[in-house]
Amino acid sequence: MLAVVVARYGGMLEVMDRPVPRPGAGEVLVRVRASGLCSTDLHLLSGRMSLGNLPRILGHESAGEIVELGEGVTGWNAGDRVTVAVDVVCGKCRHCLTGKTQRCTSMQRIGFERDGGHAEYVAVPAANVIGLPPTLAYDAAAILPDAVACMYHSLVGRGKVGIGQKVLILGVGGLGIHGVQIARLAGADVIATSRQPERLKIAEQYGAIPLNTATESLKDGVHELTRGEGMDLVVDNIGTRASVREGLSLLRPGGKLLVVAYLDDTFEVPSIPLFKTELEIIGCRGSSRQDLEEVVRLTGSGKLRPVIGAHYPLEQIAAAVERLEGGDLVGRIVLTRE
Ligand SMILES: [Zn+2]
Ligand SMILES: [Zn+2]
Repeated sequence: MLAVVVARYGGMLEVMDRPVPRPGAGEVLVRVRASGLCSTDLHLLSGRMSLGNLPRILGHESAGEIVELGEGVTGWNAGDRVTVAVDVVCGKCRHCLTGKTQRCTSMQRIGFERDGGHAEYVAVPAANVIGLPPTLAYDAAAILPDAVACMYHSLVGRGKVGIGQKVLILGVGGLGIHGVQIARLAGADVIATSRQPERLKIAEQYGAIPLNTATESLKDGVHELTRGEGMDLVVDNIGTRASVREGLSLLRPGGKLLVVAYLDDTFEVPSIPLFKTELEIIGCRGSSRQDLEEVVRLTGSGKLRPVIGAHYPLEQIAAAVERLEGGDLVGRIVLTRE
């Protein structure tokens, strides 16, 4: 089968011929119909995080149909349409037992330490698949596990976003545009920033106040929206020293900075404001199984709309990567299959 792999760190993402995986005990084999290309795929290529044995098939968000059941799997049938949760978790540790599967202490991730969904087939634990409502197309379903569920987890799970709150979304790329929708759905007022007018236009369509940081002052925009009080929540999808510093400076007393990205290895935090105004800096990692189920439900009922910027056939991974690196895209790139 065709698969997009990291053959060596620092190289290119390559399309290779790999054997079709066999579903082990407790696993299902999914024929992948669509998978989302994430900028993390490019970080993984750099070798900043270990992928274990190479070559590794990437792809941590995908959707397709079950074609084969491994030993002992019940409750699923060939032909069932599914999306696939990223984290393969133990189900037994204190985090799993309290529903915080994103913190499982013996986690492996699909498309990281295990082969992922940028392929024609992927074998995954049956516990990782979630059935799709008939209204949900494969390309939309493919980007739920990361681009959408991650924002749901950050804003709802970690940030406790609610009615009337003021939320700032720094960066409306593949994740942020869904953050806008989720915060609006929760009843919050949202400012979305970008340097790209096209991205801001879409953010505005989904109910955000757009703010072009190339031409406008973010500080003034926040001041205006909050009558000088500052934001309740800032979602940092950029993850640099500068974005963290700026995010913190825009919070109201007791406000929360939700850190979703980690471009820089270290951040700097000004100590006096943190102390004086009791700010919270909250790390947000992926999503729990429950978050993903909720996102599938909200998308199936049309309350959330996955935003896809472009489709590329799996074989055209090089062109897809180039497009992603161009940074001009609104929404996620989806890799499609014949
Ligand atoms: Zn990702
Ligand atoms: Zn666990």
